[in-house]
Amino acid sequence: GAKASGRNCARVFDPSDPESSDESENIAALLKIAIHHDLVSLVYQPIEDLASGRHDSVEALMRLKTLDGNIIPPSLFIPIAERTGSILELGRWAIRTVCRDLLADNHVQTASVNVSPIQLKTPGFAASVAAILYETGVAGSRLAFEITEGLEMEKHSEVLRCISDLKTLGIKIWLDDFGTGFAGLSWLRLIDFDTVKIDRSFLHDSVSVRGEAMLQDIIGLIRNRGPRILVEGVETSVQLALLRTMHIDAVQGYHVGRPAPAELYHRRPTSGAKSLPV
Ligand code: C2E
Ligand code: MG
Ligand code: MG
Ligand code: MG
Repeated sequence: GAKASGRNCARVFDPSDPESSDESENIAALLKIAIHHDLVSLVYQPIEDLASGRHDSVEALMRLKTLDGNIIPPSLFIPIAERTGSILELGRWAIRTVCRDLLADNHVQTASVNVSPIQLKTPGFAASVAAILYETGVAGSRLAFEITEGLEMEKHSEVLRCISDLKTLGIKIWLDDFGTGFAGLSWLRLIDFDTVKIDRSFLHDSVSVRGEAMLQDIIGLIRNRGPRILVEGVETSVQLALLRTMHIDAVQGYHVGRPAPAELYHRRPTSGAKSLPV
């Protein structure tokens, strides 16, 4: 167990104890060596365009494992990576890896990458992205950056300038997890998003009549601004049938496909297939 941990016996990750500072320190240390030790990877989850039925867009999701192979969820390691600054190196790695995977895949048109507010606020971020595009030869238009509506408004002029630079590179900007806080509405007014992703919590509530009305209201709010609307977390055919009646542009969720490594992604058809869980 954890008590016996020595040099060659890493402490076992305990998800029931996420606040443990020991655990955070271990993860912080792991994040520093993750890229060189091949402990970090990306999985891709398909996005279905409802009009065409095609799965020609994917979201890249980061995975981290410990030296002894335990999986640490992003909800745990991303906040630590943000706090310690590791997110900058990991974020560049993710964008470069997505670009390389895109070059190897003719079916997937666009890949979206989650980008932390820390990255957007770091001077030179857009330039580092431009360098990756140049180095890999991938068109910026094949990338979308998902920014979370939790992004704080302080320093927002820097963020807005960065977003405008990214758009100049052809990169699309998506708003992630819409509806989880109030900031999303402000960002919707400030930024011309290509796509807004409605948080999956709205879908889970929409089994009730009241939940469905809430979802309609949210869609109305976004619709007036003009972006494409995607609903996250679609898990059942009942949910999908409901969304088809609501003028949604795209859906993502376990019902459409589970996140899978690029190697698996290449081998599956662009539409209609269920992927293997990761
Ligand atoms: P997100 O960007 O909102 O990603 C969607 C999350 O929902 C993913 O969890 C995905 O696996 C999960 N999901 C997809 N379909 C369903 C469904 O039908 N039902 C349910 N219950 N869940 C579904 P994951 O991979 O654990 O990522 C969690 C969060 O961690 C992401 O939320 C994102 O905010 C963050 N994250 C992941 N990868 C990265 C990254 O490379 N960079 C940054 N900055 N953040 C990342
Ligand atoms: Mg996302
Ligand atoms: Mg999301
Ligand atoms: Mg989310």
